Amino acid sequence: TTVDPDRVAIANRLAGVQRVLFVVANKGGCGKSSVAAQLAFAFASGVACEAVDRELEVGLLDADVTGPSIPHLLSIAEEEVHQSATGWQPVYVRGNLAAMSIGFMLPSKDDAVAWRGARKTGLLKQFLRDVDWGDYLDWLIIDMPPGTSDEHITLTQALAGIANTAALIVATPQEVALLDVRKQVRFCERAGVPIVGIVENMSYYTCRHCGHQEEIFTPTTGGVQALCNDSGVRFLGRIPLDPALMRASDLGEAILNYDCPARDAIFELARHIGK
Ligand code: ADP
Repeated sequence: TTVDPDRVAIANRLAGVQRVLFVVANKGGCGKSSVAAQLAFAFASGVACEAVDRELEVGLLDADVTGPSIPHLLSIAEEEVHQSATGWQPVYVRGNLAAMSIGFMLPSKDDAVAWRGARKTGLLKQFLRDVDWGDYLDWLIIDMPPGTSDEHITLTQALAGIANTAALIVATPQEVALLDVRKQVRFCERAGVPIVGIVENMSYYTCRHCGHQEEIFTPTTGGVQALCNDSGVRFLGRIPLDPALMRASDLGEAILNYDCPARDAIFELARHIGK
């Protein structure tokens, strides 16, 4: 058998990574990146993880090469990545929360990346091989591009047998989104990536005045939960449509610092996954 030098390099690089979480969604706009960023904040703040009595070491890799939003969501959009003798240095939001994104490498925030598949997957492999996350990470959260494309196959294959991977699926309750969710479930199954569960985002809206929960997608209310029951996947709860989450995302802040319905939902989600 031949030894793939890339695989060896990736295995060495990620030897200290305890768990990898792919955050996936079949469509753009589901809130996948927001959920990935808020989970990273939650794990790094430690409050969401009862099991361990410490703040966790977290890395967040933005694998959405053509639409990188992680730098903005962590309020580090102006930062740049530096090379060092030990590899590419990620950008630190705080001591235990680092991020890597092609967004840090673009000359201007408005620059678009229009690359073909091979170039994108090449960069992702380079991220896995060359980013210096330090000796130890509790979590490497990977914000995947929407869909199930080249990048997904590259990343899941590159990490198969090397890292302890799992996928979190973010879905909205619309029916079309649900069909897409099934595709996502099948992709993970075929790729051999265990699914930690599906979280329903933008589920309902809580009236600020009377507290009433308005189901916005009435015809498919409960659809994600039913899909989970059918396919034997864990239902991880619902995140409401919450202007505070949009505001926090826009400012690159942690929702845990806000007093709002989405905070409680993110908190619960982090606790479920952190177990
Ligand atoms: P994706 O990564 O799936 O393309 P984003 O995380 O970029 O989606 O979210 C798309 C937009 O929706 C962003 O403006 C984000 O702030 C907003 N958003 C996501 N989830 C919610 C929510 N639960 N409530 C309010 N706004 C949300």
